[in-house]
Amino acid sequence: AKSAGGNRFELADPEADARAITRHGLTTALPAALERGEFFIEYQPLVHLGDGTVYGAEALVRWSHPQHGVLGPDHFIPLAEHTGLIVPLGRWVLQEAVGQARFWHEQASLGGQGEHGAAARPLRINVNLSPTQLHHPGLVADTVDVLERSGLAPGALCLEVTESALIGADEDLLKPLRQLAEMGVDIALDDFGTGYSNLANLRRLPVSVLKLDRSFTQGMQRHPADPVDLKIVEGIVSLAHSLELAVTVEGVETGVQAEQLRELGCDTAQGWYYARPGPPDRLHTLSLADAV
Ligand code: C2E
Ligand code: CA
Ligand code: CA
Ligand code: CA
Repeated sequence: AKSAGGNRFELADPEADARAITRHGLTTALPAALERGEFFIEYQPLVHLGDGTVYGAEALVRWSHPQHGVLGPDHFIPLAEHTGLIVPLGRWVLQEAVGQARFWHEQASLGGQGEHGAAARPLRINVNLSPTQLHHPGLVADTVDVLERSGLAPGALCLEVTESALIGADEDLLKPLRQLAEMGVDIALDDFGTGYSNLANLRRLPVSVLKLDRSFTQGMQRHPADPVDLKIVEGIVSLAHSLELAVTVEGVETGVQAEQLRELGCDTAQGWYYARPGPPDRLHTLSLADAV
């Protein structure tokens, strides 16, 4: 009950108490888990909406917990954020994902082929950055270090920062992102549309990609789709394009959604319709063109 933070009312709720204990257990286990190598990354393909070709992948971290099995990031990223472990964990994810992308680039330049003779592609790699990482003074140096050690071109890396992390951001917070962008690293605004950022503000952010949140895609599942939803997406896309930003849509689960989002002018997509997150092997020779 102590782990419930001294809130005596939680004692009356066994479930909340159990959750607090689990949370406490996970939090204290995090550093050792990183040392023991219990984290791993799944990769989810990013595709061009026009022809369904894979051009990159987003790295999504998982924890292979000895007792609880595989835990998704929602179970431990907030804890890692809270305790600061997100900095070393995030650095590990970056190093791992960049190393993977470097391998894909190598395979492509060697003319490697997949099972069905599909040519290996030099996939771009997207890595999530949490707000704490954004505030950490070592961000630029760490990123440069990881890129230099791996030999991956900065232009093949995209860092995803949530819209909410940048709401009201001042120049101090934007400076490291600006430096990375100047090096050629792409910055994507993740979960776009869930915060209430001033659209005009987009202009001063060093971002080149908007990732439209899954909630928009979900609205498109209804038949017929809500015309207001469609108008909103259309508006965002046209604004983004006028600012020379590419639009990626998240959470595409059906062909109908994919078709609609393509008609609305979105550029690229990610979602179960194309592929679930999975192991990195063969992803660079995967052909999803048949899916569309
Ligand atoms: P996100 O960055 O918005 O990542 C997309 C999430 O949507 C992933 O959940 C992905 O598995 C899920 N997804 C992809 N396609 C579909 C779809 O078609 N339908 C539905 N319903 N879901 C889909 P996941 O892997 O559980 O990750 C959750 C969040 O955890 C991520 O949201 C991101 O904010 C965070 N996260 C993941 N890996 C990292 C990391 O290495 N560092 C940090 N800081 N955060 C991470
Ligand atoms: Ca993301
Ligand atoms: Ca997202
Ligand atoms: Ca999300």
